[in-house]
Amino acid sequence: MSAVLIDGKARAAALRRDVAAGVEAFVAAHGRAPGLTVVLVGDDPASAVYVGSKGKATREAGMISGEYRLPAATPEAELLALIAALNADPAVDGILVQMPLPRHIDSDRVIAAIDPAKDVDGLHPVNTGLLVSGRKGLVPCTPSGCLMLIEEAIGTIAGAEALVIGRSILVGKPMAALLLNRSATVTVAHSRTRDLAAHVARADIVVAAVGIPGMVKGEWIKPGACVIDVGINRVALPDGKTRLVGDVDFDGAVKRAGRITPVPGGVGPMTIACLLANTLKAATART
Ligand code: NDP
Repeated sequence: MSAVLIDGKARAAALRRDVAAGVEAFVAAHGRAPGLTVVLVGDDPASAVYVGSKGKATREAGMISGEYRLPAATPEAELLALIAALNADPAVDGILVQMPLPRHIDSDRVIAAIDPAKDVDGLHPVNTGLLVSGRKGLVPCTPSGCLMLIEEAIGTIAGAEALVIGRSILVGKPMAALLLNRSATVTVAHSRTRDLAAHVARADIVVAAVGIPGMVKGEWIKPGACVIDVGINRVALPDGKTRLVGDVDFDGAVKRAGRITPVPGGVGPMTIACLLANTLKAATART
């Protein structure tokens, strides 16, 4: 048996088309395009690439892209003042502060300073609370994208045994809340979990968000399970080149799973698409 591949690239492209159509309707109704402003502090090259591609995707969806690139030594107070100005700017519907921030800045304080109605990363405690209590709010982009892929892959989530590996506030915890809100029976595994293999073997849905290449072994997977691999790990090859791999041993898992996301081309493209969807949602909710 070989699993059906979940095509995150195609799903993300469809979502981006839907967002672009929604933006057109928004412009027609309100005479302005939704705006997403991204703030980058410091010169981490990976973060700079992410910020660049978010800006490009924003413009491609017909929205206004704002960008602030601040020096690494920017005082926290200056960043907080910028966020206050963006909160007050009616043309800005979404604010995203690229993580990680330099060490002298308290990222919790920065996230808490963003207006929850503009918090398109879904990390503000108000949005976290809304998610956990099953009410409407802005949901973190990566787990939101994973949920769409799972829903399309298996249809009904209710009653399924779901295992989320990883408990970060960015991925694992919101993923668990989303699955619980869809009435899955959810287990959350982390670095202190005993016998991860036994948990994986029971799961109809496995979401791996750990950051360790291939740590979920193919032989652990329940036959027919839906496997969502969030991990993005760059590994060195014997020829000196590198390649991206996920947290799941893909070659083993593809033989047992029913559906599986590849890396790259699975969850990754969904994250930016969901950011655009969140920006349109925030703009619509604010009108
Ligand atoms: P974090 O490092 O914040 O969290 C990793 C989690 O994995 C922690 O909860 C940790 O447990 C858990 N963990 C570590 N070791 C083990 C183990 N041996 N067994 C079980 N659990 C373990 O990472 P993120 O959640 O931010 O990201 C996870 C992965 O997803 C990374 O590879 C990242 O690059 C990728 N990612 C991909 C995105 C995409 O768009 N596709 C977006 C965001 C992330 P504990 O809490 O106990 O330390």
